[in-house]
Amino acid sequence: MTFNDNANLDTSQVESGGSGGGGGGISPGGIGVGGIGGLIIMILMVLFGGGLTGGSGGGTTDQSGGGGLTQDTSQIGAAGTGGDAVSQQIASCKTGADANRDDTCRVIGTVNSVQNFWNGALPKYGQSYTPAKTVLYSGSTPTACGTGSAQMGPFYCPLDKKVYIDASFFQELSSKYGADDGALAQEYVVAHEYGHHVQDIFGVLGRAQQDPQGAESASVRTELQADCYAGIWVKYASQTKDSEGNTLLKPVTEEDIKSALSAASAVGDDRIQQKSQGRVTPESWTHGSSAQRQKWFLTGYQTGDVNSCDTFNAQDLG
Ligand SMILES: [Zn+2]
Repeated sequence: MTFNDNANLDTSQVESGGSGGGGGGISPGGIGVGGIGGLIIMILMVLFGGGLTGGSGGGTTDQSGGGGLTQDTSQIGAAGTGGDAVSQQIASCKTGADANRDDTCRVIGTVNSVQNFWNGALPKYGQSYTPAKTVLYSGSTPTACGTGSAQMGPFYCPLDKKVYIDASFFQELSSKYGADDGALAQEYVVAHEYGHHVQDIFGVLGRAQQDPQGAESASVRTELQADCYAGIWVKYASQTKDSEGNTLLKPVTEEDIKSALSAASAVGDDRIQQKSQGRVTPESWTHGSSAQRQKWFLTGYQTGDVNSCDTFNAQDLG
């Protein structure tokens, strides 16, 4: 989706993570997959932050596992040179025009829009929204869920209530997936991660941990619900406003929706597994099939209603 050029971006909703000079301490066991399959699965996680549940023994949706490490995240700052670069990048993001031309600024604009939406919407469901920051980092960064690193892709950490996005990721995304899909895919990634934050507020995020894989698993239901929540945001995105009351985004187009659907399809477990292992094994699904991810995104987009995203009680996931 396209931002309105003169909308103002609120950079206080993001922060720069500690940059990873060292390379030590990549979350042990977090990536419990090997070989080429692992690589492709990592791409999936990168896209939709997910499922590093592999060998982590109960790590859950988008890195909510871990937990042993407690860190004072207020100390996260522009520690290394990478952090400085990210800080400068963030500081350069002022307007919607910046969000239209620059990936980092687009993340910021999307965070602004998504949070503005949920802040207004959650009271209708008896909840109040608590803001969650996005940490943009380069290389690796400390989090309350363990060390976050670029190859994990975007994730949400419920222990510190923050979304983590490696700054370099979106450059790769647009170069690999093409510019057209780039903007929407990026926005969708951010909205999906904030979907997990909303699930955290509703108190359902922990369910994924108890039942981390399989076609009907709580993990899949959690991920599809986050897709559904992303769809809800897309429906109302053009109504969201900056702090001065300017609308942030132009109305969603059919092209946008097509791009979102193609992105949702590209990261379906069946698609990934077919590519990586030549066969589909639903018993190890964590995020749902291509068709399911499209279906639940569309459900959210068409209904705009949180109650329609009840994947936990859905008889038929799609
Ligand atoms: Zn996810």
